[in-house]
Amino acid sequence: MAASPPIPAPLATRFAPSPTGFLHLGHLRSALFAWRAAREAGGRFLLRIEDIDATRCRPEYAAAIPEDLSWLGLGWDGPVRVQSAHLAEYRAVLEHLSARGLLYPCFCTRAEIAREWAAIGAAPHGPEGVPYPGTCRRLSATARTARLAAGEAYALRLDMAAALAEVSGPLFFEEVGEGPVRCDPAAFGDVVLARKDTPASYHLCVTHDDAAQGVTLVTRGEDLKRATELHRLLQALMGWPVPFYRHHPLLLGPDGRRLAKRDGAVAIRTLRASGMGPAALRAMAGEEG
Ligand code: GLU
Repeated sequence: MAASPPIPAPLATRFAPSPTGFLHLGHLRSALFAWRAAREAGGRFLLRIEDIDATRCRPEYAAAIPEDLSWLGLGWDGPVRVQSAHLAEYRAVLEHLSARGLLYPCFCTRAEIAREWAAIGAAPHGPEGVPYPGTCRRLSATARTARLAAGEAYALRLDMAAALAEVSGPLFFEEVGEGPVRCDPAAFGDVVLARKDTPASYHLCVTHDDAAQGVTLVTRGEDLKRATELHRLLQALMGWPVPFYRHHPLLLGPDGRRLAKRDGAVAIRTLRASGMGPAALRAMAGEEG
């Protein structure tokens, strides 16, 4: 294990599920990881409900999260932060970046983006699939104003080149047990920071909230490790503190793929209804000892 500098005390971790379904064993692994890190260090374990995407999140799933965690014996510290109650804060970040000329409205549909790449020939691959070809970045001011005035729906994208020009030197984050990880945010291209149907993106809200809540150690599944490179850029642009990170291996389903909602049988409530207790579930989610 590479030695990382000590994480300043008091440590604060968080569990930040999106209520798009009932919690399953994969979530439990993440929650346990964060809870244990906080409890072992005498720190704080925070709970945040990431319900910014109203098209996928449901109140009944959000309501079930604290209930499931309490039953499992994973108590959290302080009030639960619910992202949908903080839209003004995300809007303020977007306005701040926009005033610096780092955002632009994008009117493209997915189909238009796919057609654009097909016309170019070969689409590159970024950490989140094919990056945006930059079509709306090149719109003239007149065309942009006309489309906005016509009430066309738009997303807000980060002008990656302009953003990188504001940051001096390469960016790194500290992965506990591994050491500094060099970031390549350019690979994401002009990412969406506010979608047409959602007031702010996961990337923006999660990075804002970790700073706002004073999280010092972000623990989450390793599928989000690449995203941290983009989060590090947002931290640099906004002057937010940079937490330590620890990405844990995912729990895999019977098919060898990561556990997901499709594996409905592993929902905590289903297992609980079948008579299993908290200790057995925690063991199934990979709690050692
Ligand atoms: N809300 C995200 C999810 O449920 C997790 C975000 C994070 O831990 O950074 O996948």
